[in-house]
Amino acid sequence: MSGPRLTFLGTADSKGVPRFWCTCAVCQEARETGLNRRTRTGLLLQGAGETVLLDASADLHAQLAARPGPLLPDRVIISHAHNDHLLGLGDLLDYRLYAAGSLDLRAPATVVEDLRARFAYAFRAQNAVEVLPEEGLPAAGLTIRAFEVPHGANGQSHAFRLERPGWAGVVMTDALDVPPELARRWLGGAAGAGLDLLVLGTSFADESAAPRQGRSVYDIAEALSLPWAHAARRVVLTHLSHGVDARTTALPPGWTLAHDGLSLPLW
Ligand SMILES: [Zn+2]
Ligand SMILES: [Zn+2]
Repeated sequence: MSGPRLTFLGTADSKGVPRFWCTCAVCQEARETGLNRRTRTGLLLQGAGETVLLDASADLHAQLAARPGPLLPDRVIISHAHNDHLLGLGDLLDYRLYAAGSLDLRAPATVVEDLRARFAYAFRAQNAVEVLPEEGLPAAGLTIRAFEVPHGANGQSHAFRLERPGWAGVVMTDALDVPPELARRWLGGAAGAGLDLLVLGTSFADESAAPRQGRSVYDIAEALSLPWAHAARRVVLTHLSHGVDARTTALPPGWTLAHDGLSLPLW
């Protein structure tokens, strides 16, 4: 039996590529040939007969509607309450009616409170989104846990750790300046080595000229200098803005840029 697969439904930063207002070369290429065309970030994890969405992108409906057949999510886990990662939750709340009670919506406790404020109508009759327990949940043949990470000027986000005996991966789309203690606890592999898979958000190629206090996500130059990223066996960069040109970005072996629709076996 084949193992779980991770599919990148969307790979853009919060504003999408092309920016609808922008005339830069990357946005123009995205309009004309589409190598850099990216919808907002969300992932699909499928394994052991289960379908799990990691975040509900602002473009979720278009992402799912573009698939060749229907997709029936069993579980959805939201990392943080930012527009680009959660706007699709409205579509999923409507889908619950058709899912006959089989859709499990989850988020870390602090995020549930934000979602309750954001989608008050859906929380009137019930707890529309349940708390993701600290110890995580078994899903798609793995245990999925969330851990809080600093998100620079944007406050806090969460990353997901996917694990099973002998294998560990992390999906961290929105983070900056992860402290060493946090990295030691969460960003190591199953056997004291590096992670088997790191999906890391890098919005721009190099933002070293931008004021640090306005930043919220790593850039590619920083990612290349992070020891825990280097230790990972495979690194996939996502959450990419028009500051990353897929035509010219060179990465070391084992590192790739994600693109919408990219689908990887976890092992
Ligand atoms: Zn642009
Ligand atoms: Zn964010």
